Order: sequence, then structure tokens, then C-alpha cells
Amino acid sequence: MKPDTTATTAATERTRDALDLAPRFTEHDAVRLNRMFRGSTTHEMLEAVIRDRLAGDLAVVSSFGAESAVLLHLVATVDPAVPVLFLDTGKHFAETLAYRDELVRLLGLNLVVLTPDAEELAKRDETGLRWSYDPDGCCEIRKVRPLEKVLVNYDASFTGRKAFQAATRANLPRFEVDTSDAQGRLKINPLIDWDAGQIEGYFIQHDLPRHPLIAQGYPSIGCSPCTSQVAPGEDPRSGRWKGWDKTECGIHKPGEEPFL
Ligand code: SF4
Repeated sequence: MKPDTTATTAATERTRDALDLAPRFTEHDAVRLNRMFRGSTTHEMLEAVIRDRLAGDLAVVSSFGAESAVLLHLVATVDPAVPVLFLDTGKHFAETLAYRDELVRLLGLNLVVLTPDAEELAKRDETGLRWSYDPDGCCEIRKVRPLEKVLVNYDASFTGRKAFQAATRANLPRFEVDTSDAQGRLKINPLIDWDAGQIEGYFIQHDLPRHPLIAQGYPSIGCSPCTSQVAPGEDPRSGRWKGWDKTECGIHKPGEEPFL
């Protein structure tokens, strides 16, 4: 006798109906949020988004680089419990780790350290030198995958991108859908309309500490093997992956890297 599968099938259909498999945010939501905060200050927008949970569960992704302190301070002023995700690639300058710890202490940040998968690292970068012959593969193991794994737990992430940094950012809105996967997370760019003078002014006004490597000629700071000093007047990004046809780490599309 054949088993009666009708009841099981019906239950499966019901479960499927009950599961909401649609992306969390759509383009329409992003447009609506941009309209809602037109004319609002950055602080007003952050207060509403964080305190009223307009974008669900939030995280900041930070490399604790040259300008990171501004957004971290702004977010921590509203709610220091917002998780700050830091990709510990194992290749950072000691100065970056010390600066990270200083800002965590000063601002009371909720730091979450993400590390590469040990097994994958052993298999694909046993010598730790993959950066020297395959930087894309190295970034993939040490940055892209660890972040991907954790971001599925959030509805939105903050970036530190600013329109003045690149032509590709000139028209970026405050809210956009993160297209790196099909989850429908939001990317929020609170500093998109800030200029270099405002960033500098914020550092001074709030007496925020500077990354110690800036004074040594590093205006854009990433992993130590892939970051070089830059001469005055040179493009700040020219010190990243010098000698390689590579400008981004893969976490964001070209022109979208958060200068955090
Ligand atoms: S920036 Fe360099 S060292 Fe860091 S993950 Fe990418 S390739 Fe590896």
C-alpha cells in the first residue's frame, strides 16, 4: 500500500507559505527612506534609524582606518551597543590594532572581531604570503568570506563613504539596497554629503584621536603588506596594493569601498 503523503504535502505547502523568503528591503524601501530623511541632519537620521529601528538590526563595518573615528563617534553617541564589525585579517599594522583598542575604550564601542576560517586559511594560504602573488584570493579568504558569513545576521550596515572621495560616489544616496547578495540588506551612508572640511572639523570639535600612521604618510590604511606611504599631493588611494591592478578588497564593488 502506498503511504498517504497528502497531509505531509499540505503541511509543507503551509510552511512554505508562512516563510517570508522575500528580500528584507527593496529599492522602493530605499527610495522611501531617502525621501523621509531629505533635509534631516546626519545625527537626526541616525537617531531615527538606530533608536526607532527603522532599518532593523544594524552593524557598522569598520577597518579603523584614517577617517573611521567620525562615523564611529556619531553612531556611538546615539547607541554604543550597535555592533562594530572588524575584519582581523591577521595582516594589520600593529598601529591599527592599537588605534582600534583606543577607540573602543574611548567610545565604549561594541566590537565584534571577525577572523578568517582557520581550515580555509591552512589550505589556501599556508605560508601567509598569498597577498604577494594573489591579492584577490587573499582578500577573499581574509575579508570577503568572513564578512559575508556574519552580515546575513543583519538587516543593514553603515558605511563611511563620502561623495567627494570619487566620481563613482558623487550621486550615492543615504540609503541603498546592498546588492552583494540576494538578502536585501540596506547599505546606509550617513556621511555621503560630508566634505573633507566637515570631517576635519568633526575630529577637532570632538577631540578625536588620529590614526598614528597618518602622520607617517599613510592617508589610506589597510593591511600592512598592501599599504604603502604616499607622497604629499598624490592620490591617497595610490598607496593601496601598489604595483597591482587592484583598487578594492572585494567587500564592495569598485568605487564603493567604505573609507572607514
Ligand atoms: S589587503 Fe592584502 S593582506 Fe589584506 S586581505 Fe587583502 S591581499 Fe590580503
